Amino acid sequence: MSEENYQPETLALRAGGVQSQFHEHSEALFLTSSFTFDSAEQASRRFIGEEPGNIYSRFTNPTVTMFEQRLAALEGAEQCVATASGMSAILACCMGLLKAGDHVIASQSIFGSTVNLFNTVLKKFGVETTFVSATDVREWQAAVRPNTKLFFLETPSNPLTEVSDIAAIAAVAKACGAPLAVDNCFCTPILQRPLELGADIVIHSATKYIDGQGRVLGGAVLGSRKLMEPVYGFLRTTGPTMSAFNAWVFLKGIETLKLRMEAHSANALQLAQWLEQQPNVARVFYPGLPSHPQHALALKQQKTGGGIVAFEVKGGKAAAWRVIDSTRLLSITANLGDTKSTITHPATTTHARISPEARAAAGIGDGLIRIAVGLEAVVDIQNDLARGL
Ligand SMILES: *Cc1c(COP(=O)(O)O)cnc(C)c1O
Repeated sequence: MSEENYQPETLALRAGGVQSQFHEHSEALFLTSSFTFDSAEQASRRFIGEEPGNIYSRFTNPTVTMFEQRLAALEGAEQCVATASGMSAILACCMGLLKAGDHVIASQSIFGSTVNLFNTVLKKFGVETTFVSATDVREWQAAVRPNTKLFFLETPSNPLTEVSDIAAIAAVAKACGAPLAVDNCFCTPILQRPLELGADIVIHSATKYIDGQGRVLGGAVLGSRKLMEPVYGFLRTTGPTMSAFNAWVFLKGIETLKLRMEAHSANALQLAQWLEQQPNVARVFYPGLPSHPQHALALKQQKTGGGIVAFEVKGGKAAAWRVIDSTRLLSITANLGDTKSTITHPATTTHARISPEARAAAGIGDGLIRIAVGLEAVVDIQNDLARGL
């Protein structure tokens, strides 16, 4: 596609198209592990990088390339590197950019497995991480060391929907010469474009809204060609690359991303407003509510509040489990970003492997419930929750 200044919904449909000799209209699924060469000489030129082209699907695959180009167009990134999952995107980013002796500053309000990745896997290889408040920029500044090589945050955070000031934290990162990586899973480029706000890297779990229908796992790392080169190098050597089949599913998912994100957000706002009125709900966390501590920042940084709502019920774990077990419609599962609404108890599932002290510090109480609001009628979701509330 030409470099015209297309709107996101147009890019979502048309960016990153590759047509084969058959002139198919829909993106083809190139289900092949390797590619053939015209001659021994061509094979040699491909392998030493003198001639562009596919060699082997651990390196590149045309369906995966289409996905990478489409997502890069939406995020406004020079390059996208697709991965087997969101976690392998974060791993590839860190393994590509960090070495033993380096220091990372990360928000304490990040996905549970990401905390474990920093605290166990990367620690084992000599990378140390300081966790700071998602919302207090002074803590980020105070944590800077001479060997700080990466800033990492997720906004809105999981599950409390805390909103980090991307531009302000990017300024701190820039001053010390380290890139800022933003996990943009909750917003997708439809609602928030971190690179425009000063971030250097965007991370995705494509498993969530990009697929949008809960079918396959995948992830992506996006940024400048220079930053992505070692990230791609790590993937090519070690192999947690995206499968062609999954890339094909994501390409189709992206085509409806804008419609879905707007619908998820509208449903979530309506549900959050209703939850705020329920007597057994102590607190509702949703960036689109005026009661949210970073509501003004969210309005500035995101197009809408997104699809994730968390709320604290009175009565702790027993009350939260009662609400969850009383549902008949919502799916009890830890996944999110699906067209079907899902309900989760973070303290005993997604965040169970984190110490109780760290959980308390992150504000994840035993009465907290997270709902990834789907596309069902809001009244049906409300009735499903009202039973347990
Ligand atoms: C799910 C998730 C991940 C991990 O993605 P996987 O595809 O499950 O590996 C990372 N960050 C956030 C915010 C997530 O929700």
